[in-house]
Amino acid sequence: MIIPVRCFSCGRVVASDYEKFKTGMDKIRSTGKKPTDAEIEKTLDDLGVERYCCRRMILSHIDLIDEILPFS
Ligand SMILES: [Zn+2]
Repeated sequence: MIIPVRCFSCGRVVASDYEKFKTGMDKIRSTGKKPTDAEIEKTLDDLGVERYCCRRMILSHIDLIDEILPFS
């Protein structure tokens, strides 16, 4: 659905980092290749997302809001 504003475990704000993460991944995808594990790791490190609880919030999120909206 919508990315939670804060990490469920530690309370760090992750919603603003998610947008930057998505922009970084889209930039890599625009070159025609899939982001590698190292590129994903570097993007998260550059954003300052260090704890794995916060990383899972960003990595495991699936944006479904645009698909759900027509039915609400
Ligand atoms: Zn966290």
